[in-house]
Amino acid sequence: MKPYAEMSKEELVALRRDLKAKYHDFQTKDLKLDMSRGKPSVEQLDLSMGMMDVLSSDDDLTCEDGTDCRNYGVLTGIDEAKELLADMMEVNPSTIIIYGNSSLNVMYDTVSRAMTHGIMGNEPWCRQDKIKFLCPVPGYDRHFAITEYFGIEMINVPMTSEGPDMDMVERLVASDPAIKGIWCVPKYSNPQGYSYSDETVRRFARLEPAAPDFRIFWDNAYGVHHLYDHDQDHLIEILAECKRAGNPDLVYKFASTSKISFPGSGIAAIATSHNNLEDIKVQLKNQTIGHDKVNQLRHVRFFGDIHGMVEHMRKHADIIRPKFEAVEEILERELGGLGIGQWTKPKGGYFISFDSLDGCAKDIVARCKKAGVVMTGAGATYPYGKDPHDSNIRIAPTYPPLGDLVVATELFALCVKLTSAEKLLKEMENKP
Ligand code: PMP
Repeated sequence: MKPYAEMSKEELVALRRDLKAKYHDFQTKDLKLDMSRGKPSVEQLDLSMGMMDVLSSDDDLTCEDGTDCRNYGVLTGIDEAKELLADMMEVNPSTIIIYGNSSLNVMYDTVSRAMTHGIMGNEPWCRQDKIKFLCPVPGYDRHFAITEYFGIEMINVPMTSEGPDMDMVERLVASDPAIKGIWCVPKYSNPQGYSYSDETVRRFARLEPAAPDFRIFWDNAYGVHHLYDHDQDHLIEILAECKRAGNPDLVYKFASTSKISFPGSGIAAIATSHNNLEDIKVQLKNQTIGHDKVNQLRHVRFFGDIHGMVEHMRKHADIIRPKFEAVEEILERELGGLGIGQWTKPKGGYFISFDSLDGCAKDIVARCKKAGVVMTGAGATYPYGKDPHDSNIRIAPTYPPLGDLVVATELFALCVKLTSAEKLLKEMENKP
């Protein structure tokens, strides 16, 4: 089929009639499918059930330094968990604090602490005039939700396949002391699955912010989440690069085992400079006596070491790779060459990002919903839920079983076609 933009009005009218009939067929199927959130499937969760067996009532729950994990204590995490998470995050164990069950929680706390108490002796953000964050777009809705909640003004920065537009990032952080942070998902980004290039990481480490309390919020959520064994993205490690660049305190790096073990019952961590760690601990020691050490021990005993974790991630990849490939294959078959959409082909992470013609995303998502397929809300990938082009849609292929995913993606592609045909026809009708 030829590109939609090259079709005559008559061709488009006939096409719309045909697509509408197909859409009505889908509506009669009474579908109830969900492609909205990046959750592991049941099969993936089953991979970690062995974690329920590694600790039993007969076991000695003493950790390496002699601490009884059943009792209070150890503010920053047990040594063996620090070692495991440090290997996962490609940093030294001495740079890590292990937290509770969620890295988003750590990010929220980090923003909250900066708000109320400031960063390393600087005036608390709440006492400063205005606070702004840079938000590479499209990006992760829950990042934007945190900064919105604290009344922080968010500024869109376009993403490229190499990472955020660094000319813009450098210019803005150097010129405006109200800019205090930037949200980054550097590897297999949410939603595009892009990984930052070496050049991008080097430029991040060499930023010259006007604000002394500016920090990069480096959310390494998908650090070990490759889809392929022999084609993986590798990034320059940001903490080491910041140190080399003479900017050791510039970055907070976050990660968790949410999509490795169990989302909501994993372990999360922050890695950062010695100065930042000390700054954080002033608050942390008032917040808790220590996080869940039994869960930390359970993770260490289940994975053993980073090699065990890498092996485990191969099993995840074997389950989700066919799902990503099925979505890409259907999109290519149904939409390739039509000029009505573009999508990413990630080598890892949890999402595929789809861009429709401008002004179509909301209608496509609404159409999918009417036929029983829930997608992530259009606009969710932008601060304040406002996609200026109304074109980006996040596809989350991991959760539904493969058969459901195929049906859902076929419906999605149909909705893209129908909405695009209608838009082009409307444009023709409006032309003088
Ligand atoms: N960061 C990113 C980029 C994510 O995609 C997700 C999960 N969708 C999270 C953080 C959530 O992490 P956690 O479960 O550790 O809070």
